[in-house]
Amino acid sequence: MLFRTVPKTGDRLSILGFGCMRLPSKNGGIDEARAIRQIRHAIDSGVNYLDTAPAYHLGKSEQVLGKALQDGYREKVRIATKLPHWEVRDAGDMEWILAKQLATLQTDHIDYYLLHSMSKESWEKMAKLGVLAFLDRAKSEGKIVNAGFSFHGTLSAFKEIVDAYDWQFCQIQYNFLDENNQAGTQGLRYAAGKNLAVMVMEPLRGGNLAGPVPDDIQRIWDKAPIKRSAAEWGLRWVWNHPEVTVVLSGMNNEYHIDENLKAAGSALPESLTPDDLARISRVKETYLRLMKVGCTGCGYCMPCPAGIDIPGCFALYNAHHLFPKDRSTRFHYISRHGGIIGDVSYAGLCLQCGKCAKACPQHLPIPELMKDVKADMEGMIRVAVPVFKGGLWCMNKIAKVRALFSREKSHD
Ligand code: SF4
Ligand code: SF4
Repeated sequence: MLFRTVPKTGDRLSILGFGCMRLPSKNGGIDEARAIRQIRHAIDSGVNYLDTAPAYHLGKSEQVLGKALQDGYREKVRIATKLPHWEVRDAGDMEWILAKQLATLQTDHIDYYLLHSMSKESWEKMAKLGVLAFLDRAKSEGKIVNAGFSFHGTLSAFKEIVDAYDWQFCQIQYNFLDENNQAGTQGLRYAAGKNLAVMVMEPLRGGNLAGPVPDDIQRIWDKAPIKRSAAEWGLRWVWNHPEVTVVLSGMNNEYHIDENLKAAGSALPESLTPDDLARISRVKETYLRLMKVGCTGCGYCMPCPAGIDIPGCFALYNAHHLFPKDRSTRFHYISRHGGIIGDVSYAGLCLQCGKCAKACPQHLPIPELMKDVKADMEGMIRVAVPVFKGGLWCMNKIAKVRALFSREKSHD
């Protein structure tokens, strides 16, 4: 296992982090025994950074990770988990959510604590509610060690957040298709230039850049003199950037875990050859040709007066068509743009004003495309969002009552 250093603290982290958002499943829930075996195997093989969040597996991911880290494993690793801004209505909420996370993870401190899924709007909301004072307090009380944020928004919002606090790290979506999407390469360099460690999520776009890939893509990989899986090519492309500290992989298959561990033993920064990089560029060009909308994610069309996240909607619309067998893309679209884990920003809100099309350097007929996105992606949005939100609200209430009950019990 190779390690890279967190610039502000000198902490040494494994370049492969275990993402606990896609743990193995069984009977509609997590296959706990298998997940715990996999997590411990990764730690025994050198992984020392594990990333979870209350939103993963409907709250069960933190619980299973807490169990996996018993029997001496907690002391070997750094835990990263996140504050869900959509559950925060006042500063008190931040306190009880963190207290619950510490209890669930069976630990007295979180090593890397992130504000989950920041964008311009969610950041402004959290800043107004006093999140920076909360982070300072949690740090001084020893409940968290390093503060950071994960990000899904525009480059300008990313820079604004980077500059707003003395963060130790941030987490961005980054892969060879997303060089110009969200924070992108410019954001990566900006954060690294300010001495932030950069953790990368979605290095394989939720597994979509790993096999089975479209045939045109597989043919390009097959011609490489060095035989690597599509997943290894994707991960090595991210690790090739010296500004990247940890690459998170949502692992749930023993073979893939071992394959990733092996790659993490030799993926030095700038180790890809010019021939490797040219091959990856050809793969990227082919993906872009296969996509429905040639959106580069530049963000020039933003902000939209109706609040639509135009590049975000196009990114998931494209993913839906590139990988038609992946049924989770519509779910991601609804949760991200329907207002479940972010702001309401779906294509169906389009007013057909045309402002965006005038600004688009790709000359995309955005208002027309918004109709296509709506037709393909939003069939269930008006029903699914209230149902999902209702479920989250109930879970939240139950958690609060349980926390109250256990506090009263401890006073008995
Ligand atoms: S045409 Fe639609 S997507 Fe474009 S700016 Fe107007 S409301 Fe937003
Ligand atoms: S301006 Fe055009 S290319 Fe850029 S993000 Fe908007 S739609 Fe995509």
